[in-house]
Amino acid sequence: MPDQLVTIGSYSTPYEANLVRGELEAFEIDATLADENAISLNWLWSNALGGVKVQVPESKVTEALGVLGTERSDEPDGRDVPQTTLCPSCGSSNTHYFLDKRGSFLTWLLLGIPVMPAVSKKECADCGRKWKG
Ligand SMILES: [Zn+2]
Repeated sequence: MPDQLVTIGSYSTPYEANLVRGELEAFEIDATLADENAISLNWLWSNALGGVKVQVPESKVTEALGVLGTERSDEPDGRDVPQTTLCPSCGSSNTHYFLDKRGSFLTWLLLGIPVMPAVSKKECADCGRKWKG
């Protein structure tokens, strides 16, 4: 019986999700993108659908997160970013990065071009708290 697919991250654009899938496939982890086509058709759907989800077989989750954790160690602040960040509110380790693109979204709607850069943030999957990361 094949493994169940588990979502290990979601990204606002198919481009970002494809980069992650590429990283995983370099380590011979089969990754699947969910909602990629719908979001490719209309970027505005990205928020509604929760982004393009990167999914891997259940048995590969730890390995996949390890691969992505390694990739994240070259964060701009130079510190090693731990693979699991604890939520400041509830202490859960069920947190993930996302790009807050509300600013660029707004300017895109008003001016037709995304002027403001997206901000990298973290979100707790358990209590929903978001903070700058
Ligand atoms: Zn939390």
